[in-house]
Amino acid sequence: MKQLRQSYTVETLQDGTRALVVGWEVPEDAPLAVREGLARRAITNSGRPCPCGAVATLPSRAERRRANRAGVVLRRAVLHEDDCPAADDNLAQALVDGGWSA
Ligand SMILES: [Zn+2]
Repeated sequence: MKQLRQSYTVETLQDGTRALVVGWEVPEDAPLAVREGLARRAITNSGRPCPCGAVATLPSRAERRRANRAGVVLRRAVLHEDDCPAADDNLAQALVDGGWSA
């Protein structure tokens, strides 16, 4: 079984603050469905919409300030369409089918 590797990038938000974004590297030798799902997740992680229309909902500036003061890491949810390769169930199945794990 092949293992995905996490990626770490720093993104600049619209208000100029910076955020650490944890995602996954896109392995070139993974099946197309895995690569497409991970690539679409990387798109939304960078603040752009997924081809299915899903967008990342960012926490408000006040929420980010509160989390920063409390030393809490914020997570954001992205709700992809049911037929999108980046949707949780589709990507999980593609990983299993291709012999990959996260
Ligand atoms: Zn999507």
